[in-house]
Amino acid sequence: MLNTSAPQKTPRTILVVEDEPDLATAIAQRITANGWTARVASDGASAVRAAGQLKPDLVIMDIMLPVMDGIEATKRIIAERPVPVLMLTARDSEADKVIGLSAGADDYMTKPFSPRELIARCEALLRRVERATIIAKNNENEKVLDFGSLIIDPRQRIVIQNGEQVHLTPTEFDLLATLARRPKSVFKREKLLEEVWDWPDASGTRTVDSHVKALRHKLGSDMIRTAHGVGYAFEPPENADLAPEA
Ligand code: CA
Repeated sequence: MLNTSAPQKTPRTILVVEDEPDLATAIAQRITANGWTARVASDGASAVRAAGQLKPDLVIMDIMLPVMDGIEATKRIIAERPVPVLMLTARDSEADKVIGLSAGADDYMTKPFSPRELIARCEALLRRVERATIIAKNNENEKVLDFGSLIIDPRQRIVIQNGEQVHLTPTEFDLLATLARRPKSVFKREKLLEEVWDWPDASGTRTVDSHVKALRHKLGSDMIRTAHGVGYAFEPPENADLAPEA
């Protein structure tokens, strides 16, 4: 569902945080060619400052950076102002991804990647954020999902577990809300990828797995059940009063 031509593009500012000058330049050029504005920061501390000044629409964040690493920089940027973050990892390491996603990144790419795919991912991420905003507006009357010790409020996009607010990234929230609207139903990975990520390409199903890991890390591992070889289902907490009996 990629636009092949986009004559009237919404102006976007993308902050590229990358300490390898050649790569930073290549990414920035690609962003500019796509009709967006690119700004480059080459270490974590200047990234935090730049994000505060520029208020970018999206941040592309390398993990390994001088002065302050990409994980810490992401946490600080998001604490100041929520913004979608696409993280760049040098290794195809699951641990890196989970750490990155639990720091608040919404998506990640493993180096080396094709600039074309990077832009496609950025577009998907921006579309998703836009869509979530529209959905939130349209769903102003959507009722709160109350599972006792876990409360999901789609309108305010907040999650309360045992009386405490759990901070989820926009993607994590959408994934959880999608699953929780139909408790105990198994969703295929491909279906989740399409519904939550607006990304019909099944090659990205590992993204779903990584975000489920991040969610389990934040909410406890029992909340999301794995249906092996198929997908995932939301398991309401034990005390949840799902269907009030007459
Ligand atoms: Ca680096």
